[in-house]
Amino acid sequence: MHSLNNEGGEGNQIQTRMVDIVGADGRLHNVNAISGDMLKHIQAQHFFELARANGLPLCAGCRQFNANRINADRAWSASIPKGDREALDALLRHCAMDDTAGILITAGGRSLPRKSVVEFGWVIGIPSLVETDSYFHVKYATERGSEQMKTDAEKQQTEGSNLGQAIFHRPASSGVYAIVCHLELSRIGYNDISQTYALDEPERQRRARALVQSVMHTFVELNGAMRTTQLPHLVGLEGVITYSATSSIPAPLVSPLAGGRDDLNAYREQARAVTVALNGGQPAVVATEFNTLGAFSEQLRDLVDHAVPALAAVAAR
Ligand SMILES: [Zn+2]
Repeated sequence: MHSLNNEGGEGNQIQTRMVDIVGADGRLHNVNAISGDMLKHIQAQHFFELARANGLPLCAGCRQFNANRINADRAWSASIPKGDREALDALLRHCAMDDTAGILITAGGRSLPRKSVVEFGWVIGIPSLVETDSYFHVKYATERGSEQMKTDAEKQQTEGSNLGQAIFHRPASSGVYAIVCHLELSRIGYNDISQTYALDEPERQRRARALVQSVMHTFVELNGAMRTTQLPHLVGLEGVITYSATSSIPAPLVSPLAGGRDDLNAYREQARAVTVALNGGQPAVVATEFNTLGAFSEQLRDLVDHAVPALAAVAAR
């Protein structure tokens, strides 16, 4: 039960974000969903905390968790090298957050992109396994005498203050949700223009560990709307983690929407099949499965402690 995906209000009705998807049965379904921006934002917050705790470099913008990131670092913007290749090298060395989360450098009138190495899809309810209901909520005014009501109404008109009694309809949702996440650890510290690394191996390793750890923290400490009174009940997390030891072979990512409610393990079987086909007898890609939040955390912990930066993908439900 949660209310993480509110997109705003219409009158006194708070709206739940809904999307139309084509389900595994080939038909359109309207289901509730949480935008990938939400998970990316939560992951960035956790990465920020880990970067500070582990002494990873952060630019002046990221030190304030400013969404403009390195563009808000005036000293850096003033000293940015002229060539794009050199500017990208300078960015990668200067800030671990801009390196991993991506940014469009706009300082000095340029438009130089750094593509994120972590990607999240929409969190999507599995058709017929998700439900949203609405419940009634009142903000009580303690004093409802006619004089007070008149004063409140006047203040509403003149100051826009909302002091009177108010009613709301709030949504509450419950369901099974499909999540996909992709990490390109091999691109940490990698300059896409010069096709070389701007960082040494130990620094890339430190950032890769913080990144995988931040993804783990994203699911252990969920964030989102209305947590004050609708803290989500997370009752299960199951899925597949695939990772590749080389950057030339991709780690397969199959959505848990595959199969729909009638075949909830279809995505696992497909991930296994793709892994076997990619390997062709060589152990390049590894696929592991988890059935609880505990097992998910343990497997990511193992990756944090032992992984060398390559590719990883997570499909979960
Ligand atoms: Zn930064």
